[in-house]
Amino acid sequence: MAKVVVLGSGFAGHTAAMYLRSRLGKEHQVTVMTNNDMFSYLPSWVWVGVGHMKPEKTVFKLKPVYDRLGVNFVHAAAREIHPDAGEQYILGEKAGTKEPVRLDYDYLVIATGPKLNFAGTPGLGPETGFTNSICSLPHAIKSRDAYLALVERMKQGEKVRIVVGTGHPGATCQGAAFEYLENIHKDLVKRGLRAQADLLWLSNEPALGDFGVDGITMKKKSGLVTSAEFIEAVFRDHGIRWQIQTGVTKVEPGKLYWENYAGESGVTEFDFAMLIPQFLGQPFKYIGKDGSDVSAKLVNKAGFVLVDGTYGLNYETLSEDPDAWPATYQNPQYPNVFAAGIAFAPPGPISVPHVNKNGLSITAAAPRTGMISGVIGRIVALNIVDLIKQGKVTHHERMSEMVAACIASMGDSLWDGNAAVMIMYPVVPDKKHYQNGTGRDLFVSLLELGLAGAWMKFVLHHTFIWKFKARPGWKIIPE
Ligand SMILES: Cc1cc2nc3c(=O)[nH]c(=O)nc-3n(C[C@H](O)[C@H](O)[C@H](O)COP(=O)(O)OP(=O)(O)OC[C@H]3O[C@@H](n4cnc5c(N)ncnc54)[C@H](O)[C@@H]3O)c2cc1C
Repeated sequence: MAKVVVLGSGFAGHTAAMYLRSRLGKEHQVTVMTNNDMFSYLPSWVWVGVGHMKPEKTVFKLKPVYDRLGVNFVHAAAREIHPDAGEQYILGEKAGTKEPVRLDYDYLVIATGPKLNFAGTPGLGPETGFTNSICSLPHAIKSRDAYLALVERMKQGEKVRIVVGTGHPGATCQGAAFEYLENIHKDLVKRGLRAQADLLWLSNEPALGDFGVDGITMKKKSGLVTSAEFIEAVFRDHGIRWQIQTGVTKVEPGKLYWENYAGESGVTEFDFAMLIPQFLGQPFKYIGKDGSDVSAKLVNKAGFVLVDGTYGLNYETLSEDPDAWPATYQNPQYPNVFAAGIAFAPPGPISVPHVNKNGLSITAAAPRTGMISGVIGRIVALNIVDLIKQGKVTHHERMSEMVAACIASMGDSLWDGNAAVMIMYPVVPDKKHYQNGTGRDLFVSLLELGLAGAWMKFVLHHTFIWKFKARPGWKIIPE
């Protein structure tokens, strides 16, 4: 009998657990240890943050799903991982009681997402700082309340400054921030208040529409169009100002301090700001048999789990080598440890990095979106099944081989809503296979705007919640 433990129950961990359970016989044990007993459908938090969706519509209880599937459920936060051969186990604390928990494993999936590192930017964040966030459900609810309070002030005739984007020079997840800004725009238009708000997109991207994936180029009748041109047209149409190539370094009440590519520094004043923090790996202790710290074998300096990628390449070399991206998501030192979703360490950024003359790196980190995290969760599960059944891994999918679709909501109404549908293949440009200057297949790459996208986003919300509840047919719904 094999004991498989999955840490985390987000897009990556929950997907991995569902596939593990469906592919392994009952003689094998599948356990999920997670510090959140609810599954969260994060993409819809852009609507929670403007008060257009009730928070409870974006979450559901995991235990009943796991009881039905036959997955053991441990509601606890992991703290230590002991990976050395012999006794391999995780130590954690039970939610609520903080009682110690020990789980032994034969195979481990680390899928614990990001630590939201608000502390990386002094003054950032809704708990100890002065900005908002939509990166957790309590944060999205707090953002909603702050936004609706601002709307009340606007109704009294006040003019306000709203800033949305990235709150750290190395942040990722620009797509979610873009959606939130566009939903604010649409909401204010509908309320007849748009003229009273100055909307600013403030981001660390090298170009508009970069989204941490080096932008997208697509074929149109008129020729090639880039996401930079596309997003610029959208922002002009919506009267949204932008400031890119900028890293926020500090926040004070109503003031954002930043540096840009040129090394200039400045201050932007705001009444409401929603800025994405830096993401780090979860700060677990990795402890060897003799009590020593073995974290260097498992994680990089940011705490992301090292897998089968080629690390340490400079950007130029990495951007020419699609095979440097991990394929099996297996740790080379501990082959029974895998990582999925945001938890795995990418070998570097996809977007062009930049260090300004003051030595500040302003570089959009590589995103691992929900779809990518789900795909990797499935690959990892299938590889563990391979190891158990045939002693070797056979499944691989690099981000440089993976297709990704993203629907960026720009207003949720099914009558006059809007969304940008983005499809890219592959996610990480592969300049060896696609020698067209973009590294992507231009027949697949797409960026379209329209009401149909708003319908798709709505349908995706319900379809994915169906899938994640493991309802009939979940396996045929792609990640
Ligand atoms: C507002 C917003 C909108 C987004 N929109 C989209 C979109 O439209 N499309 C898209 O593809 N992606 C979108 N994303 C990105 C997507 O949500 C993430 O890429 C995805 O959630 C990453 O999945 P994950 O499983 O790696 O991490 P997470 O979803 O963060 O899951 C991590 C899990 O680990 C658990 N955990 C953390 N620490 C511990 C611990 N110590 N012990 C035990 N368990 C722990 C957590 O409780 C959680 O269950 C959006 C993100 C945000 C914030």
